[in-house]
Amino acid sequence: MIYLDNAATTPMLADAVGVYQKYACQSFYNPSAGYREAQDIAKQIKEAKERLLVKLGATCGDIIYTSGATESNNLAIMGSRRNGKWEYVFSVGEHPSVYNVAKELEMQGFKVHFVGLSSTGEINYEMLASVVNEKTRLVSVMHISNETGAVNDIQRIVGVIKDKARNALIHVDGVQAFCKVPICLNAFDVDFYTISAHKFHGPKGVGALYVKNQKLLKNIVFGGGQENGLRSGTENVAGIMAMDYVANQIDILSNYNKVQALKACMVKILSENKNVNIFESKSPYILSVGFKGVNGETLMRALQDQGVIVGMGSACSAKKSGNRILESIGFSKEDVKQRIRISFNSFLSEQEVAQAGKTILKVYNEIWEKVK
Ligand code: PMP
Repeated sequence: MIYLDNAATTPMLADAVGVYQKYACQSFYNPSAGYREAQDIAKQIKEAKERLLVKLGATCGDIIYTSGATESNNLAIMGSRRNGKWEYVFSVGEHPSVYNVAKELEMQGFKVHFVGLSSTGEINYEMLASVVNEKTRLVSVMHISNETGAVNDIQRIVGVIKDKARNALIHVDGVQAFCKVPICLNAFDVDFYTISAHKFHGPKGVGALYVKNQKLLKNIVFGGGQENGLRSGTENVAGIMAMDYVANQIDILSNYNKVQALKACMVKILSENKNVNIFESKSPYILSVGFKGVNGETLMRALQDQGVIVGMGSACSAKKSGNRILESIGFSKEDVKQRIRISFNSFLSEQEVAQAGKTILKVYNEIWEKVK
């Protein structure tokens, strides 16, 4: 089986299982308890946060551990909501864990602006500039698109926002970027940044939210007051420590170069067929491809029988018809139906990718011959 849906999730690093097991079975104490063993765990979590801040390139701010990106995104947006005539700004390219929070804010009566995408898949920077104003409370824009691999220019976005709304908070969903591209939050100067462990070979159900100034955030769940009151609930210690381990194993630049070669190999093979429509995007990890005349879902199902697993865009929204993200870029409804998403990880070999590419073309041609 050649697995090419790494934007949906990645296999956990086998070495991290030992770390997980250590904190689940031996060092299993509740970090909120008062005895020495438990306090030692609390100290280790604190040290893991410091390592994560370094990895994020942040010399100030804090980390709040969560159950994953969906929770981090909800916390950043809902936790910075305030009463009054505030406005919120989102790109239409956001993952449902941001987009549906935006829809909820709209339902609650807040003014919410949705900014479209340009033909590169990035947010439309001019449109962003036209909606941000002094009443803007928060802007939420993803770093790298999970659908297309388009990379938003975060520094440019922050510049546009600060120009018009000095006090607006800025949240970035960095799920498809963290541990894949170098990140320097000091340079980005954003207020919140979301990460999720299972997208970079960590366990599922654990993630984090970087928070520049905790005073600007309110808790959205109520309980025992863990994580400085911002995320009550006993910490997922084993998940946190396994995520910490994995993040510190990853060599971002070496993986980036390797994956770039894998994507180039796939693009070269698929481009041999003129019916194949490659969407050029900057992230080497994600490739959106269209196949003339053939439904993407049909192709995906046929491919799984041939040992190749590909995605259909965001797994969380794969069942919904249409795709607001691809349509905003300019794809017709017909084009959208014909697309699949191929996403890589650094453990794949070039031979595997080449074999998968050839299989994709073969399977596509077989279906095309029947339907054309
Ligand atoms: N944001 C983006 C960009 C994603 O790709 C995903 C996962 N598909 C999420 C958020 C949600 O992540 P999690 O599964 O950790 O809740």
